Parts: sequence; structure tokens; C-alpha cells
Amino acid sequence: MKNVKFAKCVKCGKIYEATPNLTNCSCGGILDIIYDYDYIKSVLTKDKLAQRSDNSMWRYRELLPVEETTEAPPLRVGWSPLYEAGRLAAQLGIKKLYVKDDGVNPTASLKDRASSMAVAKAREAGAKVIACSSTGNAASSLAGNAAAAGLKTYIFVPSRAPKGKVAQLMTFGATVISVQGSYEDTFDLSKQAIDRWGWYNRNAAINLYLSEGKKTVGLEIMEQLNWVVPDYIAISVGDGCTIAGLWKGLKDLYAIGFIDHLPRLISAQASGCCPLNRAIETGEDWHPMEENTLADSIAVGVPRNADKALMAIRESNGLTVNVTDEEIMAAQKLLGRTCGVFGEPAGVTGTAGLKKLCEEGKISPDATVVSVVTGNGLKDVANAIAHCGDPISIPSDMDLLLKAFAENNIVVE
Ligand SMILES: *Cc1c(COP(=O)(O)O)cnc(C)c1O
Ligand SMILES: [Zn+2]
Repeated sequence: MKNVKFAKCVKCGKIYEATPNLTNCSCGGILDIIYDYDYIKSVLTKDKLAQRSDNSMWRYRELLPVEETTEAPPLRVGWSPLYEAGRLAAQLGIKKLYVKDDGVNPTASLKDRASSMAVAKAREAGAKVIACSSTGNAASSLAGNAAAAGLKTYIFVPSRAPKGKVAQLMTFGATVISVQGSYEDTFDLSKQAIDRWGWYNRNAAINLYLSEGKKTVGLEIMEQLNWVVPDYIAISVGDGCTIAGLWKGLKDLYAIGFIDHLPRLISAQASGCCPLNRAIETGEDWHPMEENTLADSIAVGVPRNADKALMAIRESNGLTVNVTDEEIMAAQKLLGRTCGVFGEPAGVTGTAGLKKLCEEGKISPDATVVSVVTGNGLKDVANAIAHCGDPISIPSDMDLLLKAFAENNIVVE
């Protein structure tokens, strides 16, 4: 890989050759890919990018840690739409708002960016089997991307994982182990099994290539905004890989001179499970928390990527915001009504956080903000149905329809 120098431990600074099977540092710290930005600048320009017809995350190959000969995996991941959300911006009282809908990815979440990268690296490693533990989306995403590439998967999910995600897993042909316990229990069992059988490891914060896949969301946002940097990017946070990846992508673009400054991050967590935001707010180390939220994808009491995530929020001079389940479900409806975008609870938590910060007067009215929707609402229909209200239910009778409209104060236009 001409574009990659080496991998470096974020904790102790130890340096490793960037082999496809690399995991954590001997000190336990997480590794980070260090690029040769001079080389990348010599081979990649904005014009070159603009002429590319590859509408997937793989359009940014020069910024990705793969061999030049490695094929992009089959599913089309990334290049999700960035919508200008004028009505929602007006409601929130800010100048400009863009919604990046990552729920349109092949398995319907941003995790596809990491899984596509995992499949590419597993192929480089010559692996036939990939495994991971996940709150749900990383699992279904890995299962789908691996199935398309003809790789076998073993997947560990906590028993609370929503049915939609488990249905995806089973449909994609994964061997699924539903662990009766927390996400941490699930992670522990997957780790033991991976050590025992030597499967390719797609666990967040162990496989350092995953956040390099996730960073493409940041690359895309900036290209879609024609390299005009927004004031804030709001995103939901669980393990911390996503926000760390987003930040890495933005810093890459800054390092190669594609953008002239960096936006501030908004880290949104659920009030019932916000160990990373709490660490920022108190200035202390993070401490484990219970997993008390219906936003299952970010119900992570023991975040696996705390170091990189905290660094990202701090370096960006970011804001933290914690939202209740009610605020999350209200944001789901608000996004649906104003933008036609249906996000799962964790998917809309960034938007819920942005709304709260706007209400608290913490975002200037002339701000430009990007809110990333990280997963599709159909992933978790049970929670959506429980909060979206009931339709008018009547027999096929015009008189009853008129009566129902009157009773519900519906003025027909
Ligand atoms: C995984 C996930 C997140 C958070 O990503 P982390 O890397 O765990 O911080 C947010 N939203 C959705 C829909 C997810 O699946
Ligand atoms: Zn180290």
C-alpha cells in the first residue's frame, strides 16, 4: 500500500506494519492507520474525484488502506444522499441543515461502510470466515456484505437485538448466536470464539480498518457540499467507532488540502447510556454505564473505541448532548414529517441531539449543520409502531369516513 505508512498505537505510540490481520497493540491500545499524505496529494485531486463514476465509498480508494489490486466487494456501499432539509432547518431555527441518509445502504445502516472494508481486508488476509459481535447493525451488515462475497460468518448478538436485524442475519445465512446478556457479555463470548478458531475479526475497535471504512461518510459529506465546510456535524455515538471514523475522514481531507478548516462534531448519546459524553462533560475518564435506552444500536455501556472517540470530540472542540428515549422518538417523527427520512432510534439520535442543542440556544441561528441518519427505521418497526400513533380504522363506508374526519378534527383540503 503506497498510501499507507504504518499503523500506530493511539496510547503508547508503538508502530506496526499494516498487515490485514493486525489487531490491538501489545499494550492493549487501539491502532490507527497513518497515511503518506504527500503521496496521496500527488495522486488525488478534486477534479479527478469529480470525474469518477464509481458512486460508492470505493471512489476514495487513494484514501483507503487497501492494496491497489484488492477488488471492491460486490455490494454497493456508500455515496448515500445528502438532502438539504429547509423545512426542518426553519423549525430548528438554523440557517442551513443537511440530512445525510445512511439508512439507504444495502443492509440499511452506516455499518455497511465498515463491513465492506472488513470484507476487502479479509480477502487480503486470505480468510474464508469472518466473525463479530454487535448490537445488531454491524452483524446484519457483515452478514450481507460477506454473503455477497462468498464468505462465511459467525455472528454474536445480544438477545435484545430487534427482530428486523435478526431476520436480516438469518436471511443472509450467518450462523447466529443470540447471547442472553448485555452487549459486553456478547462481546466477551465472541472474543473467546475468535481466539479459539482464528476467524477474521470484524469487532469494532479491534479491527483498525473498520473506522477507515466509516470515515468515507465524512469524505462524502464534504464532496457533496463541494468542499464548503459546515459548522457542525451531528451524529449518534455508541462504541465510538463511527464518530472517530468521521473525524478521521475530515482530518484526511484537511491534511491533503481539500478543506481549509474542520467542522465541530456533535456527539449525541442516549441519556440512559452516555459513558463517552459523560467523560467529556466531567473531564474524567469514562466509566461503564447501564444500557438503558430503546436506541439499541447505541446502547453500549462499555464503549470499545473510547480513546479514539474522546479524542475526536475533544480535538474538534465538539459538543455533547444526551437525549431521552422520548426525545429520540419525537425526532424520528420530526425527520419523517419534514424530510421523508425514516431512521431507526439510534439513527435519529444525532438529529434529536441537534434539536435539543438548538432549543437550548447552543447553536447559532446562522449555523450550517449536517445531521447524519445512521440507520433505517424499518430495522426496528416495533418501536416505531409503539410511538407513531394509530391510523384511522373504519369499514369501507363514506359516511364513516366523514364522521372519522370530523371526530379527528381533520379539515380536508
Ligand atoms: C453502530 C451504530 C451507531 C454508533 O456507532 P458506534 O461506532 O458504535 O459509535 C449509531 N447508529 C446506528 C444506527 C448504528 O448502527
Ligand atoms: Zn500501545
